[in-house]
Amino acid sequence: VPVSNIRNFSIIAHIDHGKSTLADKLLELTGTVQKREMKQQFLDNMDLERERGITIKLQAARMRYIMNDEPYCLNLIDTPGHVDFSYEVSRSLAACEGALLVVDASQGVEAQTLANVYLALENDLEIIPVLNKIDLPGAEPDRVAQEIEEIIGMDCSNAIRCSAKEGIGITEILDAIVTKIPPPQNTAKSPLRALIFDSYYDPYRGVIVYFRVVDGSIKKGDKICFMASGKEYVADEIGVLSPNQMQVSELYAGEVGYLSASIRSVADARVGDTITHSSKRAECALPGYSQATPMELREALEKLQLNDAALKFEPESSSAMGFGFRCGFLGLLHMEIVQERLEREYNLNLIITAPSVVYHVNLADGETVECSNPSLLPEPGKRRSIEEPYVKIDMLTPKEYIGPIMELGQERRGEFKEMNFITENRASVVYELPLAEMVGDFFDQLKSRSAKVIASEALSAIRKDVLSKCYGGDISRKKKLLKKQAEGKRRMKAIGRVDVPQEAFMAVLKLE
Ligand code: GDP
Ligand code: MG
Repeated sequence: VPVSNIRNFSIIAHIDHGKSTLADKLLELTGTVQKREMKQQFLDNMDLERERGITIKLQAARMRYIMNDEPYCLNLIDTPGHVDFSYEVSRSLAACEGALLVVDASQGVEAQTLANVYLALENDLEIIPVLNKIDLPGAEPDRVAQEIEEIIGMDCSNAIRCSAKEGIGITEILDAIVTKIPPPQNTAKSPLRALIFDSYYDPYRGVIVYFRVVDGSIKKGDKICFMASGKEYVADEIGVLSPNQMQVSELYAGEVGYLSASIRSVADARVGDTITHSSKRAECALPGYSQATPMELREALEKLQLNDAALKFEPESSSAMGFGFRCGFLGLLHMEIVQERLEREYNLNLIITAPSVVYHVNLADGETVECSNPSLLPEPGKRRSIEEPYVKIDMLTPKEYIGPIMELGQERRGEFKEMNFITENRASVVYELPLAEMVGDFFDQLKSRSAKVIASEALSAIRKDVLSKCYGGDISRKKKLLKKQAEGKRRMKAIGRVDVPQEAFMAVLKLE
């Protein structure tokens, strides 16, 4: 189809508001995935994701849709829903011209949704409001539409009412994608610039990169260069995601696809980097690239074959624990996911100790060294001062929780910066506080103090009942899960003659 008939969009939704269910229905209605081959929630295709009910790795799917006899190509770029992945969310939104804002009509707008709406607005996306779950007896689409208007200042008089579960309003959504979201600009003649919005490691083909061609075109066999890492490769294979990988010979500005180029290191082709041609380079990279290491820690080693560009690690040994790796994560959930994935997909047995941050120690001789372990702290006589990493956090809360949230801020050595009312009932509270105070159970605390819990309730329940997401009679799978759980219980670190269970290392973080 011509570029004027392409639409690139993503779905913004709070966890459980129905993003995956809606994505499934879009794929089904456009005939992208036949009903019989439709696993529930096609886009969340990792076991782990399905068990936890959250989206970890974002993916893409190309759909064909015919409206008024005109064929359109709709690319859905999925975004991860958890707060730990906001950098990936921002890159996937940057690959789109529009977004569906899906809000559960029986719940209303949640703070996390708001953060992603702001990301979408920053990226100049056309936002289509969708009120989901209107089949529920408790649905109040009018009230929720008004809430969206108040909070985001967006016209919701024509907000689409749908039930992803019952398949109501899905055609209306597809029509709105075509009529409201602008097509990509036709810049196929410019030098190549393609934005990487995701990647994963395939043990046979190396790193597989998902990208949106912003300018120019790319074809199989092209010599390409990743502008941030400076690494050069030959694109052995390029293709589209339909949603399974399907090879094509060339992709043009506006299109979304994948490539493989025998890339052995995830660090060579990170999310947010720009792909250009080696021989005909673009003058400047696309904006928004940042090293995905919000929680610090340096020098990634890529020998562990992890399909996760946000993870960093380096070898480490400690007198108590022996040899291991020191890793950098985006947050506690990311850490748990990485641990589970290493165990499931790579058959490893791991112990994770409590997280820490990196301090800068200024020495008397003027030099600065990094220190992440008290045992390595230079002697008092040798050091002049120690610098601690700080974060600035913006917490969005209904006004009744302002008190408890400020208490939390104070307890965590935070410095109150400002508070603004976004609407009559919602405020933004800004604090600066030490990163060390945040790497532990800060989000858990925040959630328990502001009652309207997002993910934590669901997650802990799922972990205890490993079969809860295992519908039907697949007994072998159930057995496998129970076996895994039993293995998890055996996960102990023997120190001397004392067995310390994994839980002990994490429990120290969760002290009240
Ligand atoms: P996500 O976390 O945003 O991907 O949400 P899911 O698509 O996983 O949906 C969360 C839960 O809401 C699931 O139990 C769905 O079956 C349910 N759900 C999704 N859409 C609807 C809907 O339109 N009506 C009702 N009643 N339930 C829905
Ligand atoms: Mg989902």
